[in-house]
Amino acid sequence: MSTFQAPKGTYDLIPPSSATYLAVREAIAAPLRNSGYGYIETPGFENVELFARGVGESTDIVTKEMYAFETKGGDKLALRPEGTASTLRAALEANLHKGGNLPVKLWYSGSYYRYERPQKGRYRHFSQVGAEAIGVEDPALDAELIILANQSYRSLGLSDFRILLNSLGDKECRPVYRAALQDFLRGLELDEETRRRIEINPLRVLDDKRESVQEQLIGAPMLRDYLCEACKTYHEQVRELLTAAGVAFEDDPKLVRGLDYYTRTTFEFVHDGLGSQSAVGGGGRYDGLSEMIGGPALPSVGWALGVDRTVLALEAEGITLDLPAATSVYAVPLGEEARRVLFGKVTELRLAGVATDFAYGGKGLKNAMKSANRSGARLALVAGERDLAEGLVQLKDLQSGEQTAVALDAVVDEVRRALA
Ligand code: AMP
Repeated sequence: MSTFQAPKGTYDLIPPSSATYLAVREAIAAPLRNSGYGYIETPGFENVELFARGVGESTDIVTKEMYAFETKGGDKLALRPEGTASTLRAALEANLHKGGNLPVKLWYSGSYYRYERPQKGRYRHFSQVGAEAIGVEDPALDAELIILANQSYRSLGLSDFRILLNSLGDKECRPVYRAALQDFLRGLELDEETRRRIEINPLRVLDDKRESVQEQLIGAPMLRDYLCEACKTYHEQVRELLTAAGVAFEDDPKLVRGLDYYTRTTFEFVHDGLGSQSAVGGGGRYDGLSEMIGGPALPSVGWALGVDRTVLALEAEGITLDLPAATSVYAVPLGEEARRVLFGKVTELRLAGVATDFAYGGKGLKNAMKSANRSGARLALVAGERDLAEGLVQLKDLQSGEQTAVALDAVVDEVRRALA
């Protein structure tokens, strides 16, 4: 071991398990690519003010968890703790919303950073794949995103998850509810920090995990009872579209989530095999965010799914993804001349699209065959001086052990046929 280790709360993705991470990213992205979402990539850091305003001054993410720093040039930046604010910032900056082609549908995949207390499923560096549909208020768009996330998880074979759904109201009805909730909360026995939260973001008190708090919240006014007609109708339509699509969900009137920007539709995917860090993904509508960061009114909806926790969910359900072997053919040269000739064949096979690897470092036959087996290859291509003198190589099926001599200039065709 070297003197260095991965920083606290982080871990490395290394083969072979890293292949599962890539496959999970791909599985989450595939339904989005197939539904009109274009790929966007933004910097790993942004102006700190973007997150302070966008995610919310009172959220844990901004007050406690942000990796904020000042550059030598005096810029105040932060490593991105989430993807929505950056994506919207980039869309506005590029005027994507002005093409007359709304919604702007975008997807992304990348690293996010939060200075959290590390535990299983909660890291300081983690990966998300996310999707945002910007500029349209349409319950079908909310439903689309939930349906696509559901499709991603299903395509991975996951089934032990639930979809929690709520509406957080809009700028008409939420303030009325907020005031009623504040009235109720001010009468409770709460610590100083929670009391402060009542004044800044009372909805988040509902999300307090402590039992002593939850007990006191029995009888608290529920947002459900305060929704205006427009929000009620909207929410009912989202629910109907999900039901029609055969996507099961649970109404969770207490679901608020830890970011300030959500309005109306809010949802979370929770996996029942993950213990305390059970949220594998979540999202919702954020109709006011664009204006909060200086843009025009652009009602939008999106989600982010956690790659790390999705991999943990696969483990919890005992699912091993059926991944194709990284290598199909492994070439084993015996001697100098064979090295030259087989290396040429390896290049030829690769150009022909066959995943091929080579026994480097002048390994003996026994070691080289061990490497061939470890690579997961279906076929080994073995050649010594005598084979070459006759213009042949040996093509060995590593499953059956069967071996056939193949003419050098027929290798690509023969390999193709054997793999088909
Ligand atoms: P959020 O942006 O907080 O709504 O998170 C969306 C998803 O990202 C969560 O459901 C998790 O799957 C994942 N996630 C958020 N924070 C972390 C973290 N610290 N470690 C691992 N995954 C995380």
